[in-house]
Amino acid sequence: MKKTKIVCSIGPSTQNWKNFKGLVDAGMNVARINFSHATMEERKIDEELIKRANDELGVHIATLYDTKGPDLRTCTFEGDYIDLVEGKTIRIIESDEPGTKDAISFNYNGILKDLKPGMSVLLDDGFYKLEVESNDSDGGVTCRICNGGTIKSRRGVCIPGIKLDVPYVSEQDREDIKYACDHDGDYLAISFVNSAENIKEVRKLCAEFGKPNMPIISKIETQYAMDNLDSIIDETDVVMIARGDLGIETGVENLPLYQQMMITKCREKAKPVIMATQMMASMKHSIRPTNAEVTDVANAVLAGCDAVMTSDETTMGEYPVETVQNMAEICKKVESYYKYDNRYDYTATDKTDIIARSVVNASNQLNSKVIVAATMSGHTAAAISNLRPDAPILATVPGEKIAKAVSLNYGVYPVVVGEYKSTDELVNDGVAKAKEFAELNKGDQIIITGGFPNNGNKTTNFMKIEEID
Ligand code: PEP
Repeated sequence: MKKTKIVCSIGPSTQNWKNFKGLVDAGMNVARINFSHATMEERKIDEELIKRANDELGVHIATLYDTKGPDLRTCTFEGDYIDLVEGKTIRIIESDEPGTKDAISFNYNGILKDLKPGMSVLLDDGFYKLEVESNDSDGGVTCRICNGGTIKSRRGVCIPGIKLDVPYVSEQDREDIKYACDHDGDYLAISFVNSAENIKEVRKLCAEFGKPNMPIISKIETQYAMDNLDSIIDETDVVMIARGDLGIETGVENLPLYQQMMITKCREKAKPVIMATQMMASMKHSIRPTNAEVTDVANAVLAGCDAVMTSDETTMGEYPVETVQNMAEICKKVESYYKYDNRYDYTATDKTDIIARSVVNASNQLNSKVIVAATMSGHTAAAISNLRPDAPILATVPGEKIAKAVSLNYGVYPVVVGEYKSTDELVNDGVAKAKEFAELNKGDQIIITGGFPNNGNKTTNFMKIEEID
């Protein structure tokens, strides 16, 4: 049984039932719809696939909508691509026309005045570098192409050291946030977060759009976010280590330390953390991952991530299903050998956290086979998950929405049971569900935890040790 969760970005390669079902069978827990790329038609296709999988396969795949954020992009190009020729020059100008090999534009013209000779302009995930030669009197900028190749329309642009002076939530993001709320998204990932204030602004919008409790995933992809990491983690629900842009913005040599810093802080603060981008990049075109990729996924698990994520591998790759199969196998292998200690023990302040600590201690000491967490909001299961017990956590939940709410928490397996009428019913059904979930033998111990009464009081208040007879 795999404990690490897998987030799959959905795109042309997986917008068909065969491959989508393949992802589910391989171990996908969350489907990511990226507003930067997904058209309205594509969003609809993705949503129908998720619904069909949940209805037909009895799974609880959560929907993660991901905003574009205040990012800088190239314009579209004539014929959808241009060739950049090393050593030649290209101009960046203010224009509404498609770009050509001689002149391109960006989606935000205000940046041009900030470009000074010697500065680097990185295009398409940093694959192509331009060096500014002159900021010209007509408002355009002349750059030298440092390395050549073919670049497609609307690729990301990064200019290290320059902060976009634009409102955090653009008109398009506002519409997309509304879309995520109207379509009852399970998670909203927000791009290029720089501060806790950005998250508060999005939360306010979600409340305005009728979803005050929308779980927010903050994508850490700028130096400003790293500088404000503590307050961002305190404010957010989940962190995504968005290594693609983070590596370009801050320099790839910083990534290893930055990602470990984020994981440690998230575990200390009991916030789930997703490792993202280029995890199995070579599998876009190869049926086998490289050793380095295998080790990258394994290290993410060892370091304490709740989830790992696919990007291009499952949106445009030739082997999307094989990618997730490989990821799941690597996760399972590492989990089976790795005995988590409680290094990341956070200070328990509320009753749920205090009981979670006791549950995990008891479970590890008794070598219990399952922890059953009866949870109305998902919080109890999440608190236990953060302490990384050896046993799997079976979350008995009132409905589908909460089943999806725990889909990013390490080692949590939801089962929908409705609402219990008494503690006895909660315990007895917990035992029954544990027996269906795992192979239990006479004498095996299981731990059951929950709260009762649960009429609006979501506090966990008991723990019970049950021996299977
Ligand atoms: C990233 O930059 O690593 C990332 C996950 O963001 P996106 O895929 O939206 O560029």
